[in-house]
Formats: sequence, C-alpha cells, structure tokens
Amino acid sequence: MKLLANVMEQVLKRNPNETEFHQAVKEVLESIEPVAEKHPEWMQAGIFSRFVEPERQIIFRTAWVDDNGDVQVNRGFRVQFNSAIGPYKGGLRFHPSVNVGIIKFLGFEQILKNSLTGLPIGGGKGGSDFDPKGKSDGEIMRFCQSFMLELSKHIGENTDIPAGDIGVGGREVGYLYGMYKKLRNDFTGVLTGKGLSYGGSLARTEATGYGLCYFMEEALNAKGKSFKGATVTVSGSGNVAIYATQKIHEMGGKVVAMSDSNGYIYDSKGIWLETIQRIKEVERERISKYIEYHPGSIYKEGCTGIWDVECDIALPCATQNELDEQAAKTLIANGCFAIGEGANMPTTPEAVDLFIKKKVLFGPAKAANAGGVATSALEMSQNSMRYSWSFEEVDAKLKDIMVTIYKNVSAAAKEYGEEDNLVVGANIAGFIKVATAMYAQGI
Ligand code: GLU
Repeated sequence: MKLLANVMEQVLKRNPNETEFHQAVKEVLESIEPVAEKHPEWMQAGIFSRFVEPERQIIFRTAWVDDNGDVQVNRGFRVQFNSAIGPYKGGLRFHPSVNVGIIKFLGFEQILKNSLTGLPIGGGKGGSDFDPKGKSDGEIMRFCQSFMLELSKHIGENTDIPAGDIGVGGREVGYLYGMYKKLRNDFTGVLTGKGLSYGGSLARTEATGYGLCYFMEEALNAKGKSFKGATVTVSGSGNVAIYATQKIHEMGGKVVAMSDSNGYIYDSKGIWLETIQRIKEVERERISKYIEYHPGSIYKEGCTGIWDVECDIALPCATQNELDEQAAKTLIANGCFAIGEGANMPTTPEAVDLFIKKKVLFGPAKAANAGGVATSALEMSQNSMRYSWSFEEVDAKLKDIMVTIYKNVSAAAKEYGEEDNLVVGANIAGFIKVATAMYAQGI
C-alpha cells in the first residue's frame, strides 16, 4: 500500500485500539490501491481520507429498569458512516462485545455492501453493549424503549433506517418500532425487519441465509461445482445460519454441523433444522440440547472446533474473526473447496490470504451476505409504495440481486487483474460507485 499509506496512518492515529475497524479498513485500502492509481482526481479531492471517516458518530446512555427494580445502564451507538448514495442503512447489534470500534468496522463494511446491492442505500450501523441473553421479555422491551428514546432523535425513513443484527431480531425490532411510533406519531418505514402485520417484507427473515446460498451457488457453478451433493458446515445458529441451512438442504446439499457460542453439534445424517429452530427460537436454549432429540449426534464444547469437521463447503455465519489461519489450514487439509461468509468479517486476514493463495473459492461477506440488507431496501420500497409483494416476488428479486452482485464482483476482479479474487472485486466494485457519487457531490 503506497498511495494510501497515509490514509491508513490517519485511521490508526484517530481511532486508537479499534482493532476490528483497522482490520476492515486495511483490507479495503489494500484492494483499492489500483483504483487510487487510476483516479488522481479522487486522490486530490480527498475521497479516500473522507471515505474512512464517519460522517457522524452518536454515543448515548441507555438506562433501564430490570425485573428486580434496579436501574441498569448501557451504552448505545449509531455510526452514520456514509450517505453518498442513499440514506444511512444498517443493523443494530446488541451484544456485550459491542464498542465503538466494532460498530465502526460494521458501518464501514456496510457502505460497500450496500453499494454492491445496486440499491440506493448508504452505510451505517449501531447497537449497544446490552446482553439480551437471559433477559425477560419485559426487560428486553424496557431496554429497547429506552434505547429508542434517544435513537429516535437521529433516524427517519429518509435519514437513517436501522434493522437487526446479532441480538436484534423480530421481537426487538417490534419494541423499537412501537416506541418510535409513540414518540413521533408517525407510521413510517423507519426500521426494517418489521413484523408482517405492520409493514415488514415477506422473505426478509430468510433473506441473508438464502442470499448467501444464491451467491455461492453462482460462484460455485462458475467453477463447475454446486451445493448439490456437497457436505457443508455452517457455524452459528441464528437467523443467517438457519436459513442458509434450509436453502442448502433444498438445493441438495447436506449440512452436518452447526454451532453456538458454547460449542458445536455434528450429525452425520444431516442437521434437523426444525430441532435447531425449536431450541433457538422457541426454547431460547443452548445448541447442546440437540443431542437429546437426536441420539447418534455429537456435541463438543468450544465453537471454533467446528472447523475440524470434514466438509466440502464451509459457511461461517456466527461472528467476526471466528475462522483463523489454523482453522483455514485444517479446512484445506480436509478438502474444503469453498468458503462463504454469512457473518460480517468472520475470517481473519491471515486465513483469507491462505484461502486465496490456495485457490479456495472465497465469497467475502460484503458480497455474499448482502441479501439481508438488499431485502431491507426492498422492504423500504414496499413501505414507500404502501404495498407488499408476494414471497415469490421478493425471493425472485433477491436471487436476481445476488447473481448480479456475483457478476459485478467477478468482473471487477478480472478488470483489475485479480481474476478469482472476489475480495478485491467486492471492495473495488463497491467502492467505485460510492467514490463516483462523493466526487460528483463535491466537498
Ligand atoms: N445486519 C445486516 C447486515 O449486516 C442487515 C442490515 C439491514 O438490513 O439494514 O447487513
């Protein structure tokens, strides 16, 4: 990285200790160096240094009352990163690991991901260090209401449209939406991932997992391969993992392992998805319970052990940096020929380099998991029209979007002399659209 070295230096200096943010920016700057060479006018207009600096960062106190009547305090975040091509769009994450660096890395990735969808949405992200695990419905509701009390001052259907991410699903979006409506007396599409009875889109719940499979199938087909007949490992057991697994089974593949933050299960006959859904969505229990329902299956402590399972295709769908170099070596040694990132930045930089070097097909998150936010944008369109499309209509649009993303990403990789490197292709294709808009709009 020659031309953009000073941009990286600025990022390190301005955002100390935000390692995930540094990691995400470094990968992108390395990829877009050839774009900087080609566009001296963008260099001169400061596009690259503006691109890595959020337009606005909001940090706020969220106080709420727990079931014992004690007051708890959490921290809330919303990073409005880039609005060059549309209103800020991106999820909210509720997890104890959340800090400003995590939200910034997610917001930064979101800019490029949203650009790749081809739809008019800018990049943002938010969340809190609140831990929903083990909380009652009442506690979740009171937390969401308090969180929205502040967030509502900064968002709007044409300004910033949050959605879910880790720890924020349909239940949380419902409470957040209810509070926003009460505060504003305004029934708008200000959040996506809403329930179907109040403006949500059919197929939004399934979209990230389905989209991941549509993208990967297209990429696999280009290499003469397919999910059909493949043995697949899917880490995680949230929304993305569940619907990716459902689609893989529909496509004729077999998912043999899934995980949660405690450990993983292995079922050589193929995972029974209904059991996972019952454990995770109804009982809200640990994945280890699976073996009680399916004798013959195995549970092992430690979620990263899932990468020791022999598979043809691995889909990391849990969280950032869950797949490291050692795991990559094991996967390659076991014959794994494709990786598709369902989570955001689940693969460490060393592991990504190894996969690319060893010619393992690698679908990077900002392209492969863009189906969720793309369908959120479709939800926004339906809300604006006061209309709703059928499941089949939304699913067909989603498929079309994912196939187009694959084509654009692989074409960009080829154009910049990095054929088959979808990481570089995604970064370049996503960036060019945003940079063109920023340049056109002046400083
Ligand atoms: N949290 C999802 C993502 O990482 C979806 C965001 C959205 O729908 O706005 O892309």
